[in-house]
Amino acid sequence: MSNKKFHLIIFGCQMNLSDAERLATALKQLGYQETKSEEEADLIGVVACSVKQTAVDRIYGKVRNWQLVKEKRPLITLLSGCVLEHDREKLKDKFDIFLDIKNLDGLAESIQKAAPEEKLALPSFFDIQPSYYSKYRAYVPIMTGCNKFCTYCAVPYTRGREVSRNGESIIEEIKNLINNGYKEIVLLGQNVNSYGLDKIKAGEKELDFPQLLTKIDQLGGHFWLKFLTSHPYDMSDQLIEVMKNGQNINPYLHLPVQSGSDEILKKMNRHYSVESYIELINKVRQAIPHIAISTDIIVGFSGETEEDFQASKKLVRDLKFNLSFTSQYSQRTGTVAAKLHADDISQETKKERFNLINNQIGENAKAYNQKLIGETHEVLIDAVNKKENNYINIGKLENYVAIHLASKEPLSIGEFYQVKITQADSWGCQAEILQK
Ligand code: SF4
Repeated sequence: MSNKKFHLIIFGCQMNLSDAERLATALKQLGYQETKSEEEADLIGVVACSVKQTAVDRIYGKVRNWQLVKEKRPLITLLSGCVLEHDREKLKDKFDIFLDIKNLDGLAESIQKAAPEEKLALPSFFDIQPSYYSKYRAYVPIMTGCNKFCTYCAVPYTRGREVSRNGESIIEEIKNLINNGYKEIVLLGQNVNSYGLDKIKAGEKELDFPQLLTKIDQLGGHFWLKFLTSHPYDMSDQLIEVMKNGQNINPYLHLPVQSGSDEILKKMNRHYSVESYIELINKVRQAIPHIAISTDIIVGFSGETEEDFQASKKLVRDLKFNLSFTSQYSQRTGTVAAKLHADDISQETKKERFNLINNQIGENAKAYNQKLIGETHEVLIDAVNKKENNYINIGKLENYVAIHLASKEPLSIGEFYQVKITQADSWGCQAEILQK
């Protein structure tokens, strides 16, 4: 075993975390050991999403420091993740390796080019055994890329078109996770609802998403099963039926709407109208009445009038989303929106609209959470803090509602407990423990 060390930095979403788990295994197979310290690393990898400018700024901040380190000792720097062509061009001279994560098997060759190393063959991205960062929650990629081409989004350019992972390999990975005591499985993809369709269209025998979800749900054992992210256009009746009848599938759906204005949705190339989105939500709630539904909203998209914005706010209120990943539109070079539309809404207005949406979400969340008072739920514990003579245990319900629980003895992180909800507010609920 070589004594070379690597350190990974992640600037992005769960998809980037999942990329990093596979990259970590690849580096271990090449003889590197993981370190939490940048200072002792021989290789520093950044797995980033350059879709947001803040991530790009953070990368530049880090890179300047590493250039100084390189003057004193050998250091290999690597960049991977969802990086726009435009950013890649600017950053390519600042990193020794740019790795397209789908070509993980080419990593050995890239390292060898950057510095002479022992050469090993690596399996492909989907087949590599990840080094999971959690011992109880696993993010499992089932597909990568996207064919939807929303005009503000860079993913179809950074990750390419949809490529589905082989169904058997997904099921095998999840079987092992369940056997190893994992409690929460989150299936990942830019548009999980269209899983398998690329292979099926090419004449290959593959499961579609509802079939895959059913097989995973029926693997046996007790675990939580979620999936991210769904596109409303591909949310089929068959999928709703599978969710309704699932044993382990959580009553939780993340369904990005982005705007409450048809005009803006058209400009975003979202492929649905506000009316069809509302019908879809009603259908989901009719099938699964207690489901929690979260969404994504972009405020300040090009040309968003006060009327467009009020339509988004009304939609958020009427559909009672209890969680929203709200963002203020920022133009990214290379996207269609950047070519066709001006970024013409002031920062001040974007900030104001952002706060108004989040205030509405806060009100919705409070109303949703208050309805949970008196109910019994299962909670998965994520953290424990000592406070004077008590412990405050922090966890989540199966629908992502945050829970705080006081106890005399600390609860176990990564374990399920039965709790009764006693108080609620917009941030989450307080509960008392019933039993493990
Ligand atoms: S569906 Fe999602 S990943 Fe695909 S282009 Fe639209 S925003 Fe990007």
